Amino acid sequence: MTTSIPATLIPGDGIGPEIVDATLAALDALKAPFVWDTQIAGLGGVKASGDPLPKATLDSIRSTRLALKGPLETPSGGGYRSSNVRLREEFQLYANLRPARTIIPGGRYDNIDLTVVRENLEGLYIGHEHYVPIDGDPHAVAMATGVNTRKGSRRLLEYAFDTAVATGRKKVTLVHKANIMKALTGLFLETGLDLYEEKYKGQFELDTVIIDACAMKLVLNPWQFDMLVTTNLFGDILSDLVAGLVGGLGMAPGANIGTDAAIFEAVHGSAPDIAGKGIANPIALLLAAALMLDHVKRPELATRLRTAIDQTLNLDNVRTGDLGGSAGTAAFTKALVARI
Ligand code: NAD
Repeated sequence: MTTSIPATLIPGDGIGPEIVDATLAALDALKAPFVWDTQIAGLGGVKASGDPLPKATLDSIRSTRLALKGPLETPSGGGYRSSNVRLREEFQLYANLRPARTIIPGGRYDNIDLTVVRENLEGLYIGHEHYVPIDGDPHAVAMATGVNTRKGSRRLLEYAFDTAVATGRKKVTLVHKANIMKALTGLFLETGLDLYEEKYKGQFELDTVIIDACAMKLVLNPWQFDMLVTTNLFGDILSDLVAGLVGGLGMAPGANIGTDAAIFEAVHGSAPDIAGKGIANPIALLLAAALMLDHVKRPELATRLRTAIDQTLNLDNVRTGDLGGSAGTAAFTKALVARI
């Protein structure tokens, strides 16, 4: 008998409910062990209670420590902070895992299988910014402060290195800019090199590369990389670059891993332009659900889900419009469930 696992479900805004329905159908077919507590956030939260991240939603995640989340819109105006950033801070989601794998062969890059691990809480993202007024120009000078800590770098690097070992990655590349930002990204680099010597030497190859060279190398020959580990801002940019290698954000899942919870999501947004039309591609959220199954130590279910997605796309040739097909979300989901 399998033990059931309580988890929070946030359908989210725009196409969120449509792709969440598709994902629940696939998880039901797999007999995945999750017992859902459905909660609202984003625009839905604002409409219901004036708060994009209602207390009941936070309490639910606090208790389940596990969530699957549709895309959330942050209302413009009204001074709302991004719900995604608030979730990161609230649950100390310090690691962002973004795997990218070619699912539809024949594109510009075939056989891509690489993972970006991004530090999610520190660096230039902490938002310590201000202007210095000079001679009547209030925006004469703009300043931003980045903060990396040895402790924060080390916990992220430990997570990345442990994941590399657990998933059989052969090479990990530390991406930095320590030639120019000697303290800010030098500390991350130094911490990674020390940690490798201390605990991981021989378990995989460790390489280092400067961010600008890394971007070029990813475009010229992405196969030379296996796992990339980097600081917040560089990770934000590189993970989208890597998603582009395998067909864009519609195929990109993300896991936000923290000390207090783990939250799984599609990388794309709420796609308001196609919401309610029944044409959204649910694959990114389905792949996020597969990461969630890996996280709760049900890798056999994750593999079945990934295999069924591959087969639906490549053997049945059932694809949504963004992938050049003609299937709607419901038709794709039906074909996928038949493959599970
Ligand atoms: P978007 O990712 O929602 O859409 C960009 C384009 O990609 C659109 O043309 C859209 O139709 C298409 N698209 C996205 N996902 C798709 C899918 N699954 N199937 C088919 N087509 C898809 O980006 P945006 O328009 O810049 O953002 C819309 C809203 O989403 C904004 O309010 C933004 O803040 C929010 N957002 C949320 C998250 C999140 O919650 N993680 C991430 C990014 C953006």
